[in-house]
Amino acid sequence: MLTDTYNRIHNYLRISITDNCNLRCFYCMPEESYAFMPNQQLMQAEEIMQLAKLFVAQGVNKIRLTGGEPLVRKDAKEIIRLLGSLGVELTITTNGTRLHHFVDDLEAAGVRSVNISLDTLQKDRFYLLTRRDQFDIVKENIELLLNRNFKVKVNVVVVKGVNDAELLDFIEWTKHTPVHIRFIEFMPFDGNQWKSDKLVTWKEMLEIISKQYEITPLENLPNDTCKKYMAEGHKGTFAVISTMSSPFCSGCNRIRLTADGKIKNCLFSEEETDLLTALRRGEDVLSLIEQSIVSKHKELGGQFSKQFELIDANTLHNRSMIAIGG
Ligand code: SAM
Ligand code: SF4
Repeated sequence: MLTDTYNRIHNYLRISITDNCNLRCFYCMPEESYAFMPNQQLMQAEEIMQLAKLFVAQGVNKIRLTGGEPLVRKDAKEIIRLLGSLGVELTITTNGTRLHHFVDDLEAAGVRSVNISLDTLQKDRFYLLTRRDQFDIVKENIELLLNRNFKVKVNVVVVKGVNDAELLDFIEWTKHTPVHIRFIEFMPFDGNQWKSDKLVTWKEMLEIISKQYEITPLENLPNDTCKKYMAEGHKGTFAVISTMSSPFCSGCNRIRLTADGKIKNCLFSEEETDLLTALRRGEDVLSLIEQSIVSKHKELGGQFSKQFELIDANTLHNRSMIAIGG
């Protein structure tokens, strides 16, 4: 078991398989030009598998593929197939633009639930947010996955003055469609222009939604990062992810592996542990993993206070989200 000094058991590994992406979401990528990692710097498919096996032997029973956009990687199908053979719960977070090429592979690998990011239900706003004209294909792929009986969670990063006026439209979507919307508080990462006044807190979101809809809280699991709700009579559900205004670090069971093979023991950790170099040199990787887990900070990577109004994003030391793997 990968247990840290606060008795948190880490059984959920999020693996970024690339920092490359075919969209350009402003909250995820630095404003200035971003150089994607060269291929030799990335974990190769077999290396991902070797590292994943080590984690599984230590009690990891859930793996999520992420990125960058995991489905732009050329050997993504191979990676999905390999990890599917591990017998753990396998999931993926994707921008949805290329899902139609992967439905069979995901199904064959045992993936049952897919997180798709879609921050707006308006085509022109999608272009403004992502700088790419891919709205229709994402909507079509959500339909495709629902028709193939996948559970579909839709990630929406809520940013004040950008898409917060659409909260009710997303709830309306759940009326006849069994999608699970997850409203995420906007988080600060390297170069993403985060300011506390762009944050819409989960309480503010609930206030807006509950004025229009009768909502019921749903049961949450111990390691859930979200608080789940349902609008009366709707087929789908919604949830709020309160990382900034009400962090949920005490129940954290997550470890992240970046595309270049480094562990981040927290989304906000400055420290990283290089597993890939050790693996390539034939060194002891397990002890590095254990060291990383025991050095995990109690909260928020030890970087900022729970009072998000006090955060100065310029003082944080971290990668951009696209290079971490959300
Ligand atoms: N490309 C895939 C996608 O967009 O779903 C996977 C990688 S993306 C980095 C993973 C998740 O992180 C997405 O749901 C995205 O919306 C979220 N994300 C990125 N930057 C964020 C930020 N600054 N605050 C909150 N969530 C963020
Ligand atoms: Fe790409 Fe996902 Fe980041 Fe958007 S959120 S730029 S789709 S990695």
